[in-house]
Amino acid sequence: MKKIALHWQIIIGILAGLLFGFICVQIPGGKTLVVDWIKPFGTIFINLLKLIAVPLIIVSLIKGVSDLKDISQLSKLGFKTIGLYLLTTVLAVSTGLIAVNVIEPGLLISEETRSEMTQTFGDDISLKVEEVHLANQERGPLQPLIDIVPENIFESASANSNMLQVIFFCLILGVAMVMLPFEKIKAFKGVLDAGNEIVLKIVDLIMLSAPFGVFALLAALVVEAPSADIFKALGAYGLTVVIGLVVMTFGVYGVFIRFFGKTKLREFYKAISPAQLLGFSTSSSAATLPVTLECVEDNLNVRKEVSSFVIPIGATVNMDGTSLYQGVAAVFIAQVMGNDLSLAQQLTVILTAILASIGTAAVPGAGILMLVIVLESIGVSPAGIALIFAVDRPLDMLRTITNITGDCMVALVVDRTTSE
Ligand code: ASP
Repeated sequence: MKKIALHWQIIIGILAGLLFGFICVQIPGGKTLVVDWIKPFGTIFINLLKLIAVPLIIVSLIKGVSDLKDISQLSKLGFKTIGLYLLTTVLAVSTGLIAVNVIEPGLLISEETRSEMTQTFGDDISLKVEEVHLANQERGPLQPLIDIVPENIFESASANSNMLQVIFFCLILGVAMVMLPFEKIKAFKGVLDAGNEIVLKIVDLIMLSAPFGVFALLAALVVEAPSADIFKALGAYGLTVVIGLVVMTFGVYGVFIRFFGKTKLREFYKAISPAQLLGFSTSSSAATLPVTLECVEDNLNVRKEVSSFVIPIGATVNMDGTSLYQGVAAVFIAQVMGNDLSLAQQLTVILTAILASIGTAAVPGAGILMLVIVLESIGVSPAGIALIFAVDRPLDMLRTITNITGDCMVALVVDRTTSE
């Protein structure tokens, strides 16, 4: 029997999960059934993907870097990657700001909706704001740099939130290997190669459960979703984010893919569709990482030494969808509060949204937390986040697609514009 392509398997899982969720909402006891007996399988699926993320980064990044001919190649790759990540993030926030200033969704929000949202989600938000404040207490300007250098690699590897520290260690290890004569590292390279094969096999095994995992995630999402009325009230805001994401994902990236990546758009989007769909279902670039790597290497033929470097770093620091959304959300909240932002304030939004998106963890709902920093930088009360809280999950799913697409685009462009 012909095997159904992975992206179709995931699409079927998504649609079946949505349908099952809608049916369960209608029947008595349906919600409990999904939450108690279906949702845990979605959580297990995400856990499995995250479980393999750190081992995968370790073997593939060390292998990728140690396969380079010399160190100067690494610095070329590094500059290009970071440069492109910064450039696309600036373009993303700017796209979001243009969309929200043209559409002005904040002016369409009635006083009634505003107080309803503030009352319903106000307490949740103040707790989250407090969390961000505590985490940022006494942090100097160079703290993010210090955070990249671990003092104990085993401690770093024990938490997915320390991905950058693991990447840092693997880079040093790979560089040391390039500098040593081949004879001396031959045995270790053999272990790495074998480790790489094993980890990739495990990813394949996990992906066998993808349609079921996605089904469970989507069914749970539907039964736990807030009422449709809230979506209607915030429709214009949601639409503004979606328009920005579409322009970024297909328009801006399209230019890079076509002209610098020298690849047909259809070919590119088809190649990465499994990663995009999985990002949509899990709302997490980190959980999707194993599949993103496979898509760019196997379907786009990006060299391993490029992908193993560009993709893990991108999954951690490059979040164009998140920064775009933060730009739209910040101006939207200001509009609802009757706060007309000056040009200087909007430029501040660009700067802080870039920093906030870099600091955003690649997990569901992280972007809305970092929005606190953006709002405070322009003097808007973070309590305003209560206004957009209800519709955050669907927008999170969509912005995660853009985050992942951006990483894949940069991997393609870096690969095609650097020689072997
Ligand atoms: N869920 C997003 C990601 O993992 C981050 C965010 O915007 O919340 O890419």
